[in-house]
Amino acid sequence: MNLADLSAAAGLKAPIRHQLFINGRFVDAQSGQTLATLNPHDNSPIAEVAMAGHADVDLAVAAAQSALPRWSRMAAADRGRILLRLADLIEAHGEDLARLETLDTGHPLKDSRALDVPRTAACYRYFGGMADKFQGETIPVEAGFLNYTLREPVGVVGQVVPWNFPLMFTSWKMAPALAAGNTVVMKPAEITPLSALRIAELMAEAGMPDGVVNIVPGLGAVAGQYIAEHPGIAKVAFTGSTATGRRIVQASAGNLKKVQLELGGKGANIVFEDANLTAAVNGSAWAIFHNQGQACIAGSRLVLHERIAEAFLERFVALARSIRVGHPLDAATEMGPLTSLQHRDRVLSYVDVARTQGGELIAGGKTPSDPALAAGCYVEPTIVRAASWRDRVAQEEVFGPFVTVLTFKTDEEALAIANGTDYGLGSGLWTANLQRAHRFARELNAGMVWINSYKRVNPGSPFGGVGQSGYGREMGFDAMREYTQVKSVWVNVDAQIPPWYPR
Ligand code: NAD
Repeated sequence: MNLADLSAAAGLKAPIRHQLFINGRFVDAQSGQTLATLNPHDNSPIAEVAMAGHADVDLAVAAAQSALPRWSRMAAADRGRILLRLADLIEAHGEDLARLETLDTGHPLKDSRALDVPRTAACYRYFGGMADKFQGETIPVEAGFLNYTLREPVGVVGQVVPWNFPLMFTSWKMAPALAAGNTVVMKPAEITPLSALRIAELMAEAGMPDGVVNIVPGLGAVAGQYIAEHPGIAKVAFTGSTATGRRIVQASAGNLKKVQLELGGKGANIVFEDANLTAAVNGSAWAIFHNQGQACIAGSRLVLHERIAEAFLERFVALARSIRVGHPLDAATEMGPLTSLQHRDRVLSYVDVARTQGGELIAGGKTPSDPALAAGCYVEPTIVRAASWRDRVAQEEVFGPFVTVLTFKTDEEALAIANGTDYGLGSGLWTANLQRAHRFARELNAGMVWINSYKRVNPGSPFGGVGQSGYGREMGFDAMREYTQVKSVWVNVDAQIPPWYPR
């Protein structure tokens, strides 16, 4: 199938954008280099996308620097209005965006339609509304003085996002940065750049001035690393692996950038003996299998009270086996392919890792037998029981439809297992006991806790982790704090200051 046929078959109305977006224009990379982005369903090329190198990042930073004075001094409500218009445009082009995201990432169309697109629009709308509501304070200092704070933008912000939720994650980063008056150099993941480029086009249509947003797809080790190092960038915000996060911190040291990191996770999803099993079984499947398990907040450790473990697993395994794995553009599909072949193989390698340490494979653990899916990046919903919470499958982020089952007898044991990793992003628990629920909410070592639910997100609710899951918070007022710096202003109104050096 040629490329035009592919986009027609995917039902796309707008042409696929495949150049860098710098200073309001789509341009080739200075080097002329491109990289094919592949369809995870069969690994056929979708488009050859321009790959930014250092010279392109320099141009993007220069554009963002020259756009900064105008953008940061624009009335906050006017900045907000552009983001609100963008949210409307995203909804108006929602079906096309959903199909593009599905084509590039393998997200089932059902998910892209019901989650990725509406959540992206909601994020721009929330921060569009926030732009003129985030304010400084007056501080009651000593008599005769007025002391107030200004919340000023940080400046040019570099943002690097991964491939698991490209449309949504670019909105989580760009919306608050822009609302706060920063300008942006955004690098999407090299394997999923398409939705960010389409958003650039919609931003221009919404009235975003040239240079405020620059999108530079490129290799992590080249463009990403250079963004983290760049002396013209004041802050770098990153979502991705802990190993890359560490490299970004090191690279940012040259000009002491502000750094915000949203890294991996190994979420504990604890089911107590008094839980509503029907809700817990369904919620636990959502926690791990939505988006093929490629979520930093996936509930990838299923921690079951031993009294209900067998009854729970019987229903959970049956549900996992019934999930419809298939072509992501088929509206009936509930689980699509993983986003790359390399990642599929990495996920499958954990089946052997589990076996080597005495783990038991309960379901899945292989690619589906359907020949129509053979060339794609598919993995069956996989359930493994680990011998110990210290085993690698209970400690390392697999980042696929792969859940590790552990059991416990007491609340103390459950807490020790849940907190027994270096990560600390999201955790959840299912119980009817109110005191236990709140006690765990306090004691769990995590940035987010879900009680009788899992993996809820909202643009108003802080999102981020502790420990090896990173620092800083996306969403809500916290995101606006992250993308601003505080200036304290002192005004002598009528203070009588006795001379310190009386002469
Ligand atoms: P990664 O962290 O290498 O890639 C994420 C982003 O960082 C991409 O845009 C990439 O181009 C960029 N990048 C890579 N090296 C960089 C560097 N030196 N400097 C600046 N940017 C750089 O993730 P990956 O290798 O694609 O995936 C590996 C594992 O990371 C996954 O299996 C998963 O465990 C984890 N991961 C976590 C998340 C998350 O949402 N927290 C997302 C993706 C991957």
